[in-house]
Amino acid sequence: MKYAELVDIYRRLDATSSGLEKTAILTEAFSAADEHQLPLLVKLVRGRLYAPWTSEELGVSSSLTQRAIAKATGVSEAEIEETWRETGDLGDAAAAGITNRTQRTLVDTELTVRGVHDALRELATYEGAGSEERRIDVVAGLLSDADPEEARYVVRTVLGHLRVGIGDGTVRDAIADAFLDGSEEAVTAVERAYQVTNDYREVAQAARDGGRDGLAELDIELFRPVEVMLARKAETLSGGLEDVAAPEEGVLLEYKFDGVRAQIHKRGADVRVFTRRLEDVTEQFPDAVAAIREHVTAQRCVLEGEIVGYDPDTRALVPFQALSKRIKRKYDIAEMASEIPVVVHLFDCLYLAGRALLDESARERLGALDGVLSPEREELERATHRTLPPADGANREKSDGGSSDGSIGSDGEDGAADDATRAFYEAALDTGHEGLMLKNLDATYQPGRRVGYMMKVKPVMEPLDLVVTRAQWSEGRRSDFLGRLFLGCRNPETGEIVEVGRLATGYTDEELRELTARLEGLVTEREGRRVDVEPEVVLEIEYEEIQRSPEYGSGFALRFPRFERIRVDLGPEDVDSLDRVRRLYEDQ
Ligand code: AMP
Repeated sequence: MKYAELVDIYRRLDATSSGLEKTAILTEAFSAADEHQLPLLVKLVRGRLYAPWTSEELGVSSSLTQRAIAKATGVSEAEIEETWRETGDLGDAAAAGITNRTQRTLVDTELTVRGVHDALRELATYEGAGSEERRIDVVAGLLSDADPEEARYVVRTVLGHLRVGIGDGTVRDAIADAFLDGSEEAVTAVERAYQVTNDYREVAQAARDGGRDGLAELDIELFRPVEVMLARKAETLSGGLEDVAAPEEGVLLEYKFDGVRAQIHKRGADVRVFTRRLEDVTEQFPDAVAAIREHVTAQRCVLEGEIVGYDPDTRALVPFQALSKRIKRKYDIAEMASEIPVVVHLFDCLYLAGRALLDESARERLGALDGVLSPEREELERATHRTLPPADGANREKSDGGSSDGSIGSDGEDGAADDATRAFYEAALDTGHEGLMLKNLDATYQPGRRVGYMMKVKPVMEPLDLVVTRAQWSEGRRSDFLGRLFLGCRNPETGEIVEVGRLATGYTDEELRELTARLEGLVTEREGRRVDVEPEVVLEIEYEEIQRSPEYGSGFALRFPRFERIRVDLGPEDVDSLDRVRRLYEDQ
């Protein structure tokens, strides 16, 4: 196939903004392609030369491309840069450069799709001294043989931006139209095949050669990552529990870890780790890889989990931003691994011993996961979890983990969330995790979809600065601390402090000690284990929701308030106003 024919397709795609027309153009092209052309076409219409999970890159920056254009045309780099600036597209600058070129090659060779593809792919293999010049030569070579339109698209392909408005959805629909009947079921079958393969070339070939059955045969393959299932956001814990599963279905509560999602592929000692965006980060996490080799007993499996970093001295969790340094790091990896060691918290098993488990229930998949973990391990753990089995009527009794009080049912103000579930949520937050994931134990795995089988709950409201008005000594281990605090905001009309809730979680012992010391100096009255204090100590508070409540002077109550920090920089005159609380209540 001549490259000019592909360029013609690009131009037609570019000329229309209608999604339907774009699909029709691609459908026609896919239908007309022979078996050799089809995979190339599928790849090149999106301008992608490599699968997202390979680390290969063409390694040609804009400035190298600019030099290649200059070399091929004899037009000065300054002039090329000017056009680039004017049009915002180096492809346009290349087209203009070819039109105005001052030099020509002696023999014009006609560009073919295969020729352009192979030449560009080879760029990624150049390494070391002189590799930049070689890249420039290859791109310049292609441009010398190109007419202005071809040059435009060679350059856009090199830079990875075709600008013809083709997304995954257009390619999907065109495959369904070209090789199946284009129905909604056909589109779903193509989409599903893509989610497990992440490769439209394979999908197009399977659809053409085997139709719907051919697509159904495509399945997970080791070392080719699958798109991950995505979570929906729940506004509240109770709402999430209600939405994630019907009463007759089981629910799994899991800590939501703040780290890097990892899809782990293992065959014997070969292990590769892919991120949620399917990037291969195996090299960056040798410690996680070693833990997997050592503690995952299965020969062949695909597992999912979250890689979480911690401080080696304090063992405190490190935030994602710190861990992400490890992803970016290309050298001194061992040193980085000892600075920020990691634990892998596993939460799914997608494939085991030659069999994909995507269509199994989460309960089955987790059973498979438990079955492949060796008993003794530290750097590899099953994600902290708690199971809520199907409810009998409205009563969802809990079965394991956590304390055993209460049942999940229609009783209590929190609807579906009982005390033990709430305590589990608070324990997740108290130990520095982001919140909870709620998972439907009877649901299958839906790659790439944000279905409601997995919901995330985390405190998201804007924090409030509130002042401590009264306090109570804690119970049990913390009974020497004033750990139960009433919080107030300011009523701007009267200037008074009015209470909006009571706080009991979120602080470390150290923070509690400091708070107690500050509050003791402000006590105005003592009664049993309760004290009144001068409203002086301002705290930054997070919470899940604001409710109306007759219990407090403000008429509002924070649900699940959590201590963030003492605002030593603020005084009682700086605390948030009742108006702000009311506005946040109305906005939520
Ligand atoms: P978000 O990034 O806020 O949309 O939340 C979803 C992400 O939470 C997932 O992509 C995972 O990286 C992460 N995550 C943390 N803990 C878990 C868990 N127990 N199960 C599933 N995903 C988790």
